[in-house]
Amino acid sequence: MTAKLIDGKAFAATVREKVAGHVARLKEDHGITPGLAVVLVGEDPASQVYVRSKGKQTVEVGMNSYEHKLEADTSEADLLALIDKLNKDDSVHGILVQLPLPGHLNEDLVINSIAPEKDVDGFHISNVGLLGTGQKSMVPCTPLGCLMMLRDYHGSLSGMNAVVVGRSNIVGKPMANLLLKDSCTVTIAHSRTKDIEAVCKQADIVVAAVGRPEMITGDWIKPGATVIDVGINRIDAPEKGEGKTRLVGDCHFDSCAEVAGAITPVPGGVGPMTIACLLANTVTACCRANNLNEPEGLTA
Ligand code: NDP
Repeated sequence: MTAKLIDGKAFAATVREKVAGHVARLKEDHGITPGLAVVLVGEDPASQVYVRSKGKQTVEVGMNSYEHKLEADTSEADLLALIDKLNKDDSVHGILVQLPLPGHLNEDLVINSIAPEKDVDGFHISNVGLLGTGQKSMVPCTPLGCLMMLRDYHGSLSGMNAVVVGRSNIVGKPMANLLLKDSCTVTIAHSRTKDIEAVCKQADIVVAAVGRPEMITGDWIKPGATVIDVGINRIDAPEKGEGKTRLVGDCHFDSCAEVAGAITPVPGGVGPMTIACLLANTVTACCRANNLNEPEGLTA
């Protein structure tokens, strides 16, 4: 392997430390404890794991965690009433509704009922619009984590050619907007892109958010480019024993690492940064709500 490994796990620990420092100062200097409310509807096992992990890390950095677990058949009216209550609660600075929601609930309606300044996932249409027009907003956590790692590694991103593979609302599009805001020349590739390999090969930065295991291989990468692999895919791993699986990204790690200048691993790359950025967004939201200076380096 020739590429430098961008260690998301270690970087996320430094972000959490910074957040914890700000939380301590908010408590000491202003008597304010940031609070994050997480709403889970139903019993999706993966969502339960995420929510537990978010709650644990929230408490570890000194913030208040409020978990609201609702039955899978909760009505839209009841969910909206809870969000309305949380919107009005001054001890809650961030609200996250764990997605996906059960089919009978309208996700767009629910997300857009969160007060935009408390929308720590950055999915509210106001925040999408603010980010799209280069204004101050709450920024979606996964792309924010990618941006932090890129800034940390490169310093300025200005003038770099960036290719984002994937155009989802939660990763691809906000990632492209963030890179544009940092003055990259940005291309978004997707399932209809022609000669996607050649498109990737001219990039100084490739961000892969596709959901296809190991799709991007080393021969797609320009020598020395930086590869940020957002993908989390579970594949069979017969080499580990019958029925065993392992996690891989959207990039084929070994071949990409032979060509790239730097690369994030899966697991241990973008993944840990996502919750760290959720905590960062909550402390940012708390500072904004109280007209206090925002912590530096924790937002776009
Ligand atoms: P989506 O399924 O919403 O979007 C995938 C995108 O990839 C689409 O825009 C799709 O294009 C594009 N795509 C699919 N197949 C191809 C292909 N063969 N060639 C080019 N483009 C293709 O996924 P998400 O954005 O939600 O997630 C992407 C990956 O990131 C997943 O592996 C997910 O698990 C992971 N993820 C990781 C997170 C983390 O914390 N690390 C957080 C969120 C996601 P089109 O629009 O044309 O269909």
